[in-house]
Amino acid sequence: MISVSEALDTLLSLVSPVAIEMVPLRIAAGRVLAEPVTAQRDQPPFAASAMDGYALKSAEVERDAMFKVIGKSAAGHGFQGRVGAGQAVRIFTGAPVPEGADFVVIQEDTSRTASLITISDHPGSGNNIRPKGSDFQIGTTVDAPRVLSAADIALLAAMNIAEVPVRIKPTVALISTGDELVLPGDTPGPDQIIASNTFGLDAMLTAAGARSRILPIAHDTVGSLRMALDLAADADLIVTIGGASVGDHDLVAQVTEDLGMSRAFYKVAMRPGKPLMAGKIGQSAMVGLPGNPVSAMVCGHIFLLPMLRAMQALPSEAQRPATAMLSHDLPENGPRTHYMRARLTGTDLSVFDDQDSARLTLLADANALAIRPPNDPPKTKGEHLSYIVL
Ligand code: AMP
Ligand code: MG
Repeated sequence: MISVSEALDTLLSLVSPVAIEMVPLRIAAGRVLAEPVTAQRDQPPFAASAMDGYALKSAEVERDAMFKVIGKSAAGHGFQGRVGAGQAVRIFTGAPVPEGADFVVIQEDTSRTASLITISDHPGSGNNIRPKGSDFQIGTTVDAPRVLSAADIALLAAMNIAEVPVRIKPTVALISTGDELVLPGDTPGPDQIIASNTFGLDAMLTAAGARSRILPIAHDTVGSLRMALDLAADADLIVTIGGASVGDHDLVAQVTEDLGMSRAFYKVAMRPGKPLMAGKIGQSAMVGLPGNPVSAMVCGHIFLLPMLRAMQALPSEAQRPATAMLSHDLPENGPRTHYMRARLTGTDLSVFDDQDSARLTLLADANALAIRPPNDPPKTKGEHLSYIVL
């Protein structure tokens, strides 16, 4: 058996970053910025008023001082002249502060009669002006790689960057194997169940930036599996589910070998999800996951998500495990890393009693996977345990 980290290193060595494409900003959210992007303008492009009020000279600001209002500066329509001694310009939020002025008295602190204003209240010390380039300047950089958030998109838009270089979405082909499986919505026979793994993994990988496809279910015959793998040939990553151990009907090893895969078959020291197969078929990386629904999903978190990140040139570790306080005792762990479905409430972690790797209800109830290293000694309530968020 090999450790989880050895298995992960091997899997990561099978993939490399995909190519870069330019996409319009509108569809760039959630994509991975591939190269740093640099602002070609200052924001604000001029000293701008932060408030509605009157622009004037700071040296003249004092209570009861009077000013003649000589014009107006509105957003999009600046005042063209210059503010002299004893003068003020009516100004609105976002408008350019006219030349000669270096202070905006907010309108609440003034009283106005015709074209004269008086400072009627003590103006604060802040000048209510956003200096030119105070948000960003020509040359300010948005670093890559990063998953573009809504805030990043707003920033790039403000920088007047209409198209951004992002990683092409890695393509993933998902193949369920097994005579017992039918698709959701089909009518299962008496001995059949519904293929759930490909749907769960499709959702997981799509959310992490993949262009994922669910291929027709492969029956437990060489021909059927071969056909599904042929359909998957153009994918960056092929994932088969089930048929990966050593039972008579477990054909994935045999068929992928026929297709020239320099096969690596690993018994990974983990629960759930011990058997794992990996290699390359042509240009595609291939991973064979165990069929038990929870095993497949846990392997998705532990192995496929890091691979997908590496393919998008992101650091492979999606989340550094955190620690939380156990709300009960736990017996010692066996020789394999155990990923245990658990519920995190505030700072308390409660690990479920039942860890049957076929029970999806328990996975859906969990919001964390507690991680127990091999041979972890017994733990008592109040001790800390690491976990990742689901
Ligand atoms: P296998 O590795 O093919 O022996 O499958 C192990 C268990 O997982 C069996 O109970 C299968 O019925 C089940 N299984 C395999 N593939 C899937 C799938 N795509 N969705 C749900 N269950 C599956
Ligand atoms: Mg099977």
